Amino acid sequence: MSLIVQKFGGTSVADCEKIRAAARKAVRAHQQGHQVVVVVSAMGKNTDQLIALAREVNPRPPAREMDMLLSTGEQVSVALMAMAVDAMGYEAVSLTGGQIGIFTDSSHTKARIRSISTDRLRQALDAGKIVIAAGFQGIDEDWNITTLGRGGSDTTAVALAAVLGADLCEIYTDVDGVYTTDPRILPEARQMVRISYDEMLELASLGAGVMHNRSIEFAKKFHVPIHVRSSLSDAEGTLIVEEPESRELPVCGAALTQNEARITLLGVPDVPGTSYEVFSRIADRKISVDMLVQNVGASGKADISFTVPLDELEAALETVHEAAEVVGADEVIYDGDVAKVSVVGLEMARQTGVADRMFQALADAGVNIQMITTSEIKISTLVDRDSALTALRAVHRAFQLERPPGDVGRAGAPTLEDAMAGRAASAADEVVSRLQDVVDMEQLTIDDVSLDETQARVTISGVPDRPGVAAQVFRRVAEAGVFVDMIVQSHHGERERTGLSFTVPRAALAESLEATEALAKELGFRGVSHSPAVAKLSVSGVGLRSHTSVGARMFGALADAGINVEMTNTSEVRVNMVVDGQLGRQGLAAVDRAFAPFRH
Ligand code: ASP
Ligand code: MG
Repeated sequence: MSLIVQKFGGTSVADCEKIRAAARKAVRAHQQGHQVVVVVSAMGKNTDQLIALAREVNPRPPAREMDMLLSTGEQVSVALMAMAVDAMGYEAVSLTGGQIGIFTDSSHTKARIRSISTDRLRQALDAGKIVIAAGFQGIDEDWNITTLGRGGSDTTAVALAAVLGADLCEIYTDVDGVYTTDPRILPEARQMVRISYDEMLELASLGAGVMHNRSIEFAKKFHVPIHVRSSLSDAEGTLIVEEPESRELPVCGAALTQNEARITLLGVPDVPGTSYEVFSRIADRKISVDMLVQNVGASGKADISFTVPLDELEAALETVHEAAEVVGADEVIYDGDVAKVSVVGLEMARQTGVADRMFQALADAGVNIQMITTSEIKISTLVDRDSALTALRAVHRAFQLERPPGDVGRAGAPTLEDAMAGRAASAADEVVSRLQDVVDMEQLTIDDVSLDETQARVTISGVPDRPGVAAQVFRRVAEAGVFVDMIVQSHHGERERTGLSFTVPRAALAESLEATEALAKELGFRGVSHSPAVAKLSVSGVGLRSHTSVGARMFGALADAGINVEMTNTSEVRVNMVVDGQLGRQGLAAVDRAFAPFRH
């Protein structure tokens, strides 16, 4: 028998009328012959109000009591929802996280799910009931109530869909689906028909706002098809599945992360272990770092820059000052007025000229890029917060994201029915067997540790810090027919010059250098240097960024092996580090060992 999980967010259960409308959707699915589990969030802004109440009583409320309080929001909405279903003449039972047996770790207010027992759910479903499950909450070993972090009901819904082997997880919300960018910010944003797990993971963690990023980790890990749709209409929403919307377009979406902050350590001794010192401390505080760039400066000293969410700046700075002392950095500087503009797309890994198109769009809009990082499926730029909206609009337009791709309905592109059938046919058994060995459902999962020995590095120092320079560099390199892999542009304090490094295939090093050196003469770069052979070490899996310790663990493994990291980048599904070409094998062994406990 088919099983559907339906999740209703706070705005979709904000009042009694909306609760009844949601109940009707559940009843309708039940009438169509599906078993139905409904996951609900707290009504409207209830969680915010509870937080405000707590703060009034105690400016620093104990986390355990916070969870006790916040979990009540969902308890109200499940009860009302079950009553609404009952009033329609159907049987329903509401269950809290604890009653279901959603076991989590004990990190109150940001707990992770360890395991979920399905007995009680199955019993109720088999008795013909609609199960109404409280989102966002669980219990720890000692029966304390825990919550999963803001927006965590999505994660409850997808996790329940995973353990029950559901055919589909429907996410009902106040927008029609997933858009190419937040339509409240850019009205020209287009609703996507479909998006791949990997792309959605990136967009969710960039703060695209539609879904909790940990829910997408579950979906990818356990192959749960998701349908994001409006609770107000019956319109088709957006499918989140393995397959992207287009196999032709390099970019599927753009995201603006408004509230970022940059931290730079200047003059860090360039020896193995310094990055580990810095990032292990930050990871211990569970602060997630992005756009991590280090560049070798003059006289054996390096600068390390990275971004953190603005509301974690203070905590991050505290930690960084401690680390700076230990490693002997010259100075720590920061900027709280920056924003991150990123583009995401599975296909960019196979196309040239994507980066320069983005940089050119920013240059044409007069936006200065302060930092650049790339990964296989993402390019992020750091810009002044004041120019962020201009930047987003320029980039969205440059990739023509407002237009539907021509190959949406290509052969093999899954429809909703395909996704459900596929899940029913193949994945469910595999998933259930996979879950039996999983002790910790949200544990970091490493699929692969690998070494790429095909690349060389080009580094330009003393690049003038003004709009258009990066665009020119990568246009020249693209014109030479060279495929650029990793790109980083670093920040150099207030010195009005930045550094730019990128990797290219070893065979294309000569052309790359020629193009770069010609431009260096025209634009007055200070110098072009290169390494004819670098080794790129990669760790791939699920949960690489939400588990803040991954970067630190990799830095630690390399530091212990005495290996210096030249470049690094991270995405949701992969962390890459570039080291000296001679040290690739040794680095691989070290990293492999460090991640062995997380292999499956
Ligand atoms: N009610 C919780 C929140 O507002 C969980 C959720 O809505 O997903 O964050
Ligand atoms: Mg929500």
